[in-house]
Amino acid sequence: MPGTELFGAEERKEINDVLETGILFRYNHDNLRNGHWKAKEFEAEIAKFTGAKYAHCVSSGSTAVATAMAACGIGAGDEVIVPPFTYVATIEGALLGGALPVFAEIDETLCLSPEGIRKAITPKTKAVIVVHMCGSMAKIEEIVQICKEHNLLLIEDTAQALGASYKGKAAGTFGEMGCFSFDFFKIITCGEGGAVITNDENLYHLAEQFSDHGHDHIGDNRGMEKHPIVGFNYRIGEINAAIGLAQIRKINYILSQQRKHKKALQETLAKFDVVSFRHIPDPQGDAATFMDFFLPDEATTRKVLQALREEGVGELTGIQYWWDNQYHYIRNWEHVRGLKTPMKTVAHLLGTPQDYENLDIPKSNDLISRLISLVVKVAWTEEQLQTLCSRIEKAMQKALAQSKVG
Ligand SMILES: *Cc1c(COP(=O)(O)O)cnc(C)c1O
Repeated sequence: MPGTELFGAEERKEINDVLETGILFRYNHDNLRNGHWKAKEFEAEIAKFTGAKYAHCVSSGSTAVATAMAACGIGAGDEVIVPPFTYVATIEGALLGGALPVFAEIDETLCLSPEGIRKAITPKTKAVIVVHMCGSMAKIEEIVQICKEHNLLLIEDTAQALGASYKGKAAGTFGEMGCFSFDFFKIITCGEGGAVITNDENLYHLAEQFSDHGHDHIGDNRGMEKHPIVGFNYRIGEINAAIGLAQIRKINYILSQQRKHKKALQETLAKFDVVSFRHIPDPQGDAATFMDFFLPDEATTRKVLQALREEGVGELTGIQYWWDNQYHYIRNWEHVRGLKTPMKTVAHLLGTPQDYENLDIPKSNDLISRLISLVVKVAWTEEQLQTLCSRIEKAMQKALAQSKVG
């Protein structure tokens, strides 16, 4: 949880700028705000950091996905290819937009696989939402190629991938739009908030209008602005944006710490033959938020998990076993599989394009049942890092002695 580890004087200063004027709204009131435009400044920083032409902040990562869907004209009845391993918000965004999620397989990148996407394409497929999970990217070049071949829109859910890149190009800039989250658990946080990025001016304007009731944001009289489209209120507030502004200025420090710390964890785990690592298409572009590794089978994985907990690894960092986690893998999404929502969704009206209760995703099931992710923290001292590495080593030895593998 890097961003939250670094909440300090810089964040308080930015918040105070807003509190001093009381202008909590991101638009208008030009004369009263002492020159403070926190949302606009935060957007400029996001665009600069990612290299995208445009960035627009919204109220969350979830509303960023919904905004991207709307701006791209994806909705009612369109099929959208999504991964079964993500935070559930990706699926919510698709359903909210009226689209029908079609689940495709992931691969060792922990993201949608090119083969999985190819198999899931039907004449109704309109878009792919690729999710760059746990700080690193999918095989994005191949995925871009497939989308071109099949005339599909590509949306990148980059909620977990600020700072990730492929061959020097930032996650979120390969498709039509990238969607960031700055909730409390993300690489930088602003409490609650999100952003979309794009290189397309038209999509940018549709996004900024859609997320503010269709306002065209021209002129300085809000009540007299025109409304080219119907939208919602998915706005970010100035206080949240102020926090995000302070946080994004720390991103390079966060990334360098994470990469250094992850390297130490990886060296420890690499001593064990039974461990294999997640595939990262461009290792230099890894944001390194998690140390993800596989064991040979579920039984060994559970033994390792138990040993990690017994050796006190959980006192120093988060231990994620996504197979049991309720929010990140479809296995435990009874609510999604059963479409338990009060909304009359397109899926309810038209039926679902797949049998969500009995998805045929053996590869994803195999990978996630053998995967452990350790949270990589930013603020570990050298001593804590050493302690953590030695506890991990002990735990691995213990678990492997028990299961007599390796
Ligand atoms: C966190 C997250 C979201 C949603 O972000 P919120 O800001 O919490 O709404 C969407 N997609 C992924 C992959 C996420 O991790």
